[in-house]
Amino acid sequence: MKNYKITLIKGDGIGPEIIDEAVKVLDAVASSCDFGFNYDEALMGGCAYDITGDPLPKETITKSLNSDAVLFGAIGGPKWDNLPREKRPESGLLRFRKELGVYANLRPAVVYDELINASSLKPEVVKGVDLMVVRELIGGIYFGEPKGRDENKGWNTMVYTRSEIIRIAHQAFKIAMTREKRVCSIDKANVLDVSQLWREVVTEVATQYPEVELSHMYVDNAAMQLIRDPRQFDVMLTGNIFGDILSDEASMLSGSIGLLPSASVGAKIGVFEPIHGSAPDIAGQGIANPIATIASASMMLRYALGENEAADKIDNAIKRALKEGYRTQDLAQFDAKEVCSTSEMGSIIANYIER
Ligand code: NAD
Repeated sequence: MKNYKITLIKGDGIGPEIIDEAVKVLDAVASSCDFGFNYDEALMGGCAYDITGDPLPKETITKSLNSDAVLFGAIGGPKWDNLPREKRPESGLLRFRKELGVYANLRPAVVYDELINASSLKPEVVKGVDLMVVRELIGGIYFGEPKGRDENKGWNTMVYTRSEIIRIAHQAFKIAMTREKRVCSIDKANVLDVSQLWREVVTEVATQYPEVELSHMYVDNAAMQLIRDPRQFDVMLTGNIFGDILSDEASMLSGSIGLLPSASVGAKIGVFEPIHGSAPDIAGQGIANPIATIASASMMLRYALGENEAADKIDNAIKRALKEGYRTQDLAQFDAKEVCSTSEMGSIIANYIER
C-alpha cells in the first residue's frame, strides 16, 4: 500500500484545531482508498519562536523537503506583533515559501448553492461561480530590486523575467486543461513595461495549449468584472501583487473566509493551506470553520499526490454537509439546520466519506 509522507504545520491560534479536522478527513478518505498517510509535525510561527527563538526553524524546512506535501494551518497573533520584523511569524511564512520555491499560488473561489445568500453579491450574479486565480508568488514587486526608502521617498520595483512568466503561465494553462479551458491573463500592459513582456510571453506559451482560449484583461477592469459578472472567469492568471488583491476580492464572492482553500505549488513540495489567518479572536473555542482546511487537504490530494478520486470524495462530502444544513458559527445565519462545532463538522464530513 502506498504511504504518503505529510508534514503537518499546525501553527498558532485556530491552526491546531482546523488541522486536526483535516487529518480526521484525510484518514477517512485513506481508509476508503488504497493508500495511507504518515504524518510528521513541524513548528512554524509564534509557537516556533516561543520554543526555538526562530519563527521558521531549519528542521521545519528539512522535514518539509523530505515529505510528499505540507498541510499548513495558520500562524500569527497579537502576542508576537511587536517582535522585530524578521522574528515575526509572518516573516517565517514568507521565508518558508521562498525556501521551498513554491512560485504558483492557486486560489479557487467557489460559490456553494447552499450558501448563496452568504455572498455579499446578489444570488443571480454569483450562482455557479467556480473560478481559480493562479497567482505568481515569489517574484514581482514584493521581491524586486532596487527597493528602499529614505525620509522623503520610498520605492519598489516590479520585475518579471521571461522564465518566471513562462513557468507560471504553464501552470495556468495546465490547470485550465482540467477545467473549462479558458485563461484570462491579467496585466496593466497599457501602462507598465513589465506587463507588456508578461502579455507577450503568456501569448507565446498559449500556442502550446491550442485547446485553451486565452484572453487578456487590464487589472482595473478585472477588479470591476469580478464584481459585475464573476461567472465569465475560469482561470485568472496574475502576477504577485495583482493576484494578491484580486484573489482576496474573489474570495468574498463565496461569503465566508472559513470556506476557502489554497495551494502553493510549482516546486518539488507543495504547501496547502486555508486562505484565512490564525483567528486569535476565536482560537480555543471550538467554533472555527474547518472547511477551508479540509478543502486544502483535498487540493493536496489533487495537485500534489494526483489522487483525484479521493479529492472528489472530500469535495462531495463538504458539499453534502452544507446541503444537509450543517453550519459552523460563522455561517449560522445562512439556512442552518444545525450549528456545529469545529470538531463536529470534521466528523460529519469524515462520516460521509466513510459511508
Ligand atoms: P484572520 O483571517 O485570522 O481573521 C479574520 C476574521 O475572520 C476574524 O474575525 C476571524 O475570527 C474570522 N475567521 C478566520 N478564519 C476563520 C474560520 N476558519 N472560521 C471562522 N471564522 C474565521 O485575519 P486577521 O484577524 O487579520 O489576522 C489574525 C492573525 O493571523 C494575524 O497575526 C495575521 O498576521 C495572521 N495571518 C496569518 C495568515 C497565514 O497564516 N497564512 C494569513 C492571514 C493572516
